[in-house]
Amino acid sequence: MRAFRLPGRLVSLMLLANILPAAAHDLSGDPAGTNYDRSAKPPTNILVNFSFAAATATNHGAALATLFQPFAPKVQTHWDDRFFYIESDGMPAHPLMVGITAWQQQVPLPQTYTGNNAWQLPLQPQVAAQPISAKTHFFRGAIAIAVNGVPIFNPIKNDGITDTYLAGELDNYGGHSGRADDYHYHIAPLHLQKYVGSNNPVAFALDGYPIYGLTEPDGAPAGGLDEFNGHTTPELGYHYHATKTYPYLNGGFHGVVTERGGLVDPQPRAQPLRPATYPLPGATITGFKAEPDGKSYTLTYEIGGEKAMVHYSKNAGAVDFDFTDTSGRTLTRHYATGFHDGGRDENPPPRDRPEGNRPPRDPNRQPWLKVHAKEMDANRDGTLTREEFIAEVNRVFAAYDQNQDGKLTADEYGGPPVRSPMGGYIKQHYRELLDETGVITKASLMKEAMRMFDKSDLNHDGKLTPDETALPPGYKATPPGNPGENPPPR
Ligand SMILES: [Zn+2]
Ligand SMILES: [Zn+2]
Repeated sequence: MRAFRLPGRLVSLMLLANILPAAAHDLSGDPAGTNYDRSAKPPTNILVNFSFAAATATNHGAALATLFQPFAPKVQTHWDDRFFYIESDGMPAHPLMVGITAWQQQVPLPQTYTGNNAWQLPLQPQVAAQPISAKTHFFRGAIAIAVNGVPIFNPIKNDGITDTYLAGELDNYGGHSGRADDYHYHIAPLHLQKYVGSNNPVAFALDGYPIYGLTEPDGAPAGGLDEFNGHTTPELGYHYHATKTYPYLNGGFHGVVTERGGLVDPQPRAQPLRPATYPLPGATITGFKAEPDGKSYTLTYEIGGEKAMVHYSKNAGAVDFDFTDTSGRTLTRHYATGFHDGGRDENPPPRDRPEGNRPPRDPNRQPWLKVHAKEMDANRDGTLTREEFIAEVNRVFAAYDQNQDGKLTADEYGGPPVRSPMGGYIKQHYRELLDETGVITKASLMKEAMRMFDKSDLNHDGKLTPDETALPPGYKATPPGNPGENPPPR
């Protein structure tokens, strides 16, 4: 037991890991939960004061680290003068996915929330001059991070309307997998109180303020919550609480965060591995098993009482999937982890590497714009001008905007692909294109389109010349199986 003094209050820190069963740290891979230790007793006599005022960064960092300690070594933390960093693979120890009745066919895959891609919290939360509500903002990305290193997204999903919990999209622990096969919660993970105690936070909003359970640390009811589920008490300063109904956790940010592209920025990115998947009506997930090697997984589900499953394993540089449908037929798919279908987060082209020395997959990992520049070059002179590109953006927007209301909603961009080189791009990257109200507008599409254009326009002359759109030797078209990707003309 360590103790140190924050202004006015004694803070006791206990290394919680010592009182937890080792099994709690492992991915149990046990759909029925029989191997999952549900008998762990909440630690007691722990009080960490999160009334942040006037303590030093070192004290804050050490206090925060204690809360994440039960989930070490899978979850690692460190801090500097300003930020507290959380590294994890985003895979919790509890059974995953079971209980989902509205499934998008995504599965959980370990992520690399490490190094520059770690989660970060301000060590000293700052009260925002204009708090931002998550009712109308932040439909993309995480708004909080749980103490087990699993991100928590807005309970309302990116269509801006659907309550994921009420819609049956969440498993028995309040989570599911997203577009990048990245597991995340959408409600407060109260089950983590088993590890941190009911007197400690189960998560932190990305503005740095802690999220406690349904009650105060002493068990008293949490009264007088503001519209973000927060309030200030003498003991804890400002903090949020979990609730059993919307907003479930912080319903916005009392503290300062930066909003960029509809999400809290910065935050780690999970890179999609495969083309977008679609809802599977009538499916209920019944089991999820992780093999002890930590590389292979089996997700089982039922449709109308008939069993089906997805088995997948992470191999060097790839994930291999076997999809077995209700008729027992198995479809095999191989997705290289370098899968790339868009203009974000590209690796530089491997242009100057000798042929034999090129890392695998690199040649096919090209920005979307480079791959499709020729198709948008209206006058076929080999150069894609800004005007030609803008014309294509306007064309594809009009083609998807069936009711011509100036915005693309899920039924439009999720509907039949339109005939345009950008048709498939919009379907696959809609999340990055949504504005803060959860729809794609001409402006939000144009903004991302021009960002891609400017990134490819290396000499900034307003056009993409053949040298700027040249594909490296060995490039072989887009990866097969991209839904909605139209074949190039000619
Ligand atoms: Zn989600
Ligand atoms: Zn409270």
